[in-house]
Amino acid sequence: MTTQVVKKHMVVAQNASGRNMNVPIYRMKGSRPGPTVYIQSSIHGAEVQGNVVIYHLIQRLKHMDICGEIILVPNCNPIGTNIKAGEYTLGRFDPVNGTNWNRGYFFDKNAVEDFAKTVTPEESVTGIKQRFRAHLSSSIDKKLAEPWGLGLAQQLNLKLQQLAVNADYVLDLHNGPVSTRHIYIPEYAKNSASLFNIPHCIFIPNVFAGALDEATFCPWWTLQDHINSNLSREVCFDVEAFTLEMGSQEVIDFKEGDIDATSILSYLNAKGALHHCDIQPKDMQRLAVYLKDYKTLFTNWGGMVEYLAKPGQRINRGEPLAQILNIDDLDTDFGSRTLEAPCDLIPILHFPSASVLSGTQLYKVFTNYFDI
Ligand SMILES: [Zn+2]
Repeated sequence: MTTQVVKKHMVVAQNASGRNMNVPIYRMKGSRPGPTVYIQSSIHGAEVQGNVVIYHLIQRLKHMDICGEIILVPNCNPIGTNIKAGEYTLGRFDPVNGTNWNRGYFFDKNAVEDFAKTVTPEESVTGIKQRFRAHLSSSIDKKLAEPWGLGLAQQLNLKLQQLAVNADYVLDLHNGPVSTRHIYIPEYAKNSASLFNIPHCIFIPNVFAGALDEATFCPWWTLQDHINSNLSREVCFDVEAFTLEMGSQEVIDFKEGDIDATSILSYLNAKGALHHCDIQPKDMQRLAVYLKDYKTLFTNWGGMVEYLAKPGQRINRGEPLAQILNIDDLDTDFGSRTLEAPCDLIPILHFPSASVLSGTQLYKVFTNYFDI
């Protein structure tokens, strides 16, 4: 069994010489019907591991029997990956307008509510999905054709979102700064947390802040809620979207990438995207928090930092997280200070640099976590 890969390029931007900048789009279509899956990586330029995960996925999917279609867009932000300063990639923000590359996707809550009013009690779920997808797609087209133009990041985001608009399952592959593997999961798709082999899960509410996962699930979740309450009709569209954080930025690890690919394949298999595939989710411990319990710890002091608590390690209240060196007090008792955990927690990621200004987000941590 081999599945063909159809490769095309899409123009997402132009550089100052007026030359087109492209992203590759790999499409793999099975001979059987099934869901549409969209996977992209590196919208934040320094977060490169997802590209090696997509490489492994393509190599393995070529020899698998796909149901439906899988669309893969590696290195989906060709600008972000190339903004270097010395040894580092400054891939988080559009350098022209300063906007986060992952905040320009489209969602219009009022338009979804208006659409919900057009759904009748008799309309089939398939019919609603088809009409709603056409509605979303034309809304994105309209936004792209905005006569006043759009910022660099937003243009890129909307072009990518258009590729994902027909997908049932959307996976956006990211990395933390120095980070353990974790995943953002919409609360209404909680059951899918155990289909990935990812040890740390964050359940997020139906709130839009501009990211691709939210832009994908918020419309469907909102529509579902409205139909449930207006028509007293239980519908489930089974559209899911996740942000997967595959370890630390600025790292490519082929071996880990293959493990990450297996994790994604186990999810896709459970969702019916693969025929006669025996990849199952691993029997492992998975810890979760609600977004409100995923806390950021800022430092009130500037200085040079040793990160004592490692991502993924359980820390009790009062235990040291970091030791901070103060250059003006090397001769006094304040030459170094210890930052302690304000409660029991698990660090998920920390700032990548050892020199920090006051007010830096030093750690992001799980509090009130539980087993799933
Ligand atoms: Zn990111």
